[in-house]
Amino acid sequence: MGNVYLVGAGPGDPDLLTVKALRILQQADVVIYDRLVSAEVLAAANPDAVFIFAGKEKGEQERIQTRIHELLLEYAPHFETVVRLKGGDPMVFGRGAEEWAHLVANGIHVELVPGISSAIAAPALAGIPLTCRGVAASFAVIAGHRQSVAQENWTQYTAVDTLVILMGIENRQEIARHLLAAGRSIDEPVAFIERGSTDRERVVVSQLREVARGVVEVNSPAVMVIGQVVRLRRALHNNVQMRSTQQETSFASRTATA
Ligand code: SAH
Repeated sequence: MGNVYLVGAGPGDPDLLTVKALRILQQADVVIYDRLVSAEVLAAANPDAVFIFAGKEKGEQERIQTRIHELLLEYAPHFETVVRLKGGDPMVFGRGAEEWAHLVANGIHVELVPGISSAIAAPALAGIPLTCRGVAASFAVIAGHRQSVAQENWTQYTAVDTLVILMGIENRQEIARHLLAAGRSIDEPVAFIERGSTDRERVVVSQLREVARGVVEVNSPAVMVIGQVVRLRRALHNNVQMRSTQQETSFASRTATA
């Protein structure tokens, strides 16, 4: 019997895989992957592996989660290296702990390979650090999907400097309204980073007031960041531009040698 590796795929750019994630992907016999895993990351895996898409559509999350548990138990006894590949880090809103517990309860050995979470990497690549001396000393990462928005006690976040919201794009207007009601300021800066680390990355900067009015256009998947750290982007923006120029250059040189 082999191992099941619970692997973080990072935010999208395959250069942001860990060395260990890349090594295990190259050895993989089976790769069971989520919707947010990029095509470029999948292309780095053993091409002879069996690839199984396990993305969830709205309303069928529980059925698919049960199916993923079944698939893992079906494959694990027959293959040396079964990879359960999740976007970002498997333990940040990835149901990694549930899958891990289920496998362990069924006598299967699990090895976790952490990944770079979009919660940190997408803002950072856009020139927005989650903490910065003198500006922000704390951050919280919060689920912004429908149930969470309705149940969350938003006042508990008023004292947290930087708020990072995942899965919240559809509910951004409601989230902004909750935060204003909880006492955050109307002119507090907000950034949305769509498809961070990919060549389709797009950054939208606004203020809580505008987001609450429902006038800010954003597409999923995106990370929503609220806090004064968003202002730092202006000072770091040059470097952000340099980074994308460097990416284009290295892509061009790779193409030239291919
Ligand atoms: N485990 C993942 C998060 C899963 S929840 C991680 O650590 O990154 C899914 C949410 O993550 C999306 O709704 C979106 O808010 C965010 N997300 C994931 N990848 C992203 C990317 N490349 N750019 C922007 N947001 C991303």
